[in-house]
Amino acid sequence: MPIQVPQHILDALTDVDMPRLPPDRGTSETINISGLRLPLYRADCLIAGSGAAGLRAAVELARRGIAVAVASQSAWGGTSACSGSDKQTIHTANTADRGDDFRAMAAAIGAGGAMDADAAYIESVGSVRSMASLQYLGLPLPQDPLGGTLRYQTDHDDVGRATSCGPRTSRLMVKVLAEEALRLSVPIYNQTTVLRLLVDGDRLHGAICARPQARAEGNPFGLCLFAAPVAVLAGGGPGELYRDSVYPNGCFGTLGLAIEAGLDLVNLTESQFGIGTRRDGFPWNLSGTYVQAMPHIYSVDAEGREHPFLADYYRSTQELASNIFRKGYQWPFHATRMLDFGSSLVDLAIARETAAGRRVFMDFNRNPLAVAGDRAFDLDRLDPDVRGYLGTAGATQALPIDRLRHMNPLSIELYRRYKIDIAAAPLEFAVNNQHMNGGIAVDIWGRSSHPALYAIGEAAGTHGVTRPGGAALNAGQVFGTRAAEHIAATFATQAPAEPDRFAEAALPRLLALIGRPGAPTLDAVRDEVQARMSDAAGILCDAATVRRAVQDARALNARIADHGIATDRPSEAARAIQWQQMALASEAVLTALDHYIAAGGGSRGARAILDPTGDGLPVSAQGPLEAVRFRRERPEDRDRQIVLRRNDNGFRVTERPTRSITQAERPFFERDWPAWLTGAIYRTASDRP
Ligand SMILES: Cc1cc2nc3c(=O)[nH]c(=O)nc-3n(C[C@H](O)[C@H](O)[C@H](O)COP(=O)(O)OP(=O)(O)OC[C@H]3O[C@@H](n4cnc5c(N)ncnc54)[C@H](O)[C@@H]3O)c2cc1C
Repeated sequence: MPIQVPQHILDALTDVDMPRLPPDRGTSETINISGLRLPLYRADCLIAGSGAAGLRAAVELARRGIAVAVASQSAWGGTSACSGSDKQTIHTANTADRGDDFRAMAAAIGAGGAMDADAAYIESVGSVRSMASLQYLGLPLPQDPLGGTLRYQTDHDDVGRATSCGPRTSRLMVKVLAEEALRLSVPIYNQTTVLRLLVDGDRLHGAICARPQARAEGNPFGLCLFAAPVAVLAGGGPGELYRDSVYPNGCFGTLGLAIEAGLDLVNLTESQFGIGTRRDGFPWNLSGTYVQAMPHIYSVDAEGREHPFLADYYRSTQELASNIFRKGYQWPFHATRMLDFGSSLVDLAIARETAAGRRVFMDFNRNPLAVAGDRAFDLDRLDPDVRGYLGTAGATQALPIDRLRHMNPLSIELYRRYKIDIAAAPLEFAVNNQHMNGGIAVDIWGRSSHPALYAIGEAAGTHGVTRPGGAALNAGQVFGTRAAEHIAATFATQAPAEPDRFAEAALPRLLALIGRPGAPTLDAVRDEVQARMSDAAGILCDAATVRRAVQDARALNARIADHGIATDRPSEAARAIQWQQMALASEAVLTALDHYIAAGGGSRGARAILDPTGDGLPVSAQGPLEAVRFRRERPEDRDRQIVLRRNDNGFRVTERPTRSITQAERPFFERDWPAWLTGAIYRTASDRP
């Protein structure tokens, strides 16, 4: 007998109030640089970003006695606080039955290739602590009566290591971590955007930031200085890179910042794309029960005519409906799943409809229409895995909206909060960019190629080609903790920050980027970057288009370097710098992709590499799809990573083998205990990115 969940319980998991920030501590110090009078803040460690990853590092650092300061463009903005899906997932070791095998879990995390084996193992073994400590802080993960965490299967997960607090798991994580940070008196400087890191060889002196409240007569752009000998980049993913994006608005990430600081970037070719509602409305992933309810999917053309286009791709109503269902746990696009009438044909079909100028909808009040010549949709005629799941879930209601309501009432509530009633009207959606798997290269402690700069969460490039759903949130927690441990253990060796001299040199270069005559406008740069990335580096790529896109991206960056970016008001200065950074990040991603394709790299993860000589040929119900013939992945690419670093000519691109874990490194108590006791573990040999 299903238990009815009272509305107030559902509401509490949907509308998550965030803690109130105390009044800003301010600073009494100022510094005069380049004719500007800037407020000066000091900290042992500066964290850029207050998402789940940044706050985890902040809490762990504060507990270890490090004077940490968090600078955040938007304290409760970013992906963790503002994104989600039907059951937003965190992926941790499975406590059910006989417990988990960390090596097997690490193998699953790195199964897509191009992932360091040590990072996968770290995420696996660290997940227990990450989950337990979040529960200790009050994260309401669901349990069975014996204390086991309730689990389900998610993308790239054969075992069922996923769990969820509901649609807003990551916002709840931010909430409990923020409450803890405030309990520990961590200063969180809201609306404070890190614009430039003051890097001096192996030392860091802090960062130039922008804060609207610092705007004053002698400081029209509201700039300020943070003096800190160590920093953690936790700025999240570069959501603004793409026009077609399910990231919340204003996610710039810290890739551009890292490029400017000369850090190594890794796996930039790897992203995730999947179906969701775009950020110009309410950005939200349509995974899990949204598709497991099997709504009718159709497009509408300019004349208002409906097209049940999926019927052109699948051979029977059963195949069509079963593949809509499978998008629930095969959510990201994957080239090989376009073959054999797999679930990524759904993404392909949607992307092609959108590219043809049609709008695509899900209608929860209609079952999928029948494929021509086949029988009507019938819950008794579905593939066995689908029928089995729906049967166990008790989701045998006649209409998709009732199946959805039965399986996950929160999913309907959630859209209602944003004035979209999916019970009443069809929902428009598209294939969008959702996650950056690559990013700043880090070692086993989250340290970048610069010894005083760490990167965690989506800013770090710790994921491989694929990642199980929920591995992003787990990785941020695990590496946030490890970065804090490493900083605390090695802090005594850091030389103090002396920002004055370095800011003196960096500030004029920064100011020169804020609009000179002939400069492209902020809107023009945004539109150009986003269109190029969505059109040339979406789920379907080809060598010639990517090569052209790199050249165009390079030309844009040359223009920005010469003229800066034009702004209407001084208050837009920080945004202009962020767009300058996004333009650089876009060139970096395209350069990596161009390198990969030119070297013969094939389709993997998020992207199909189209090639008329390729041997991957998706077939639809209408016949072979020659236009999407693609190269298959080469096995040798699974064991290496592409690394980029900025140089005078753009980017230096190199490849390196992925790090492995050897048998000799298996832990043994008596042998390894001294390394822990003396802190030698923080100087392990295999720890450079
Ligand atoms: C729709 C959607 C659904 C998702 N679902 C899942 C899921 O189910 N499971 C999963 O594991 N992952 C999921 N992800 C991915 C996951 O949510 C993110 O990878 C993760 O939340 C990133 O956390 P973070 O702390 O690294 O960054 P964020 O949460 O994005 O935080 C970044 C912070 O940095 C700040 N910031 C940015 N730039 C600067 C700067 N220059 N200076 C100062 N501050 C800055 C921002 O304001 C923000 O506070 C999803 C993503 C999306 C878009």
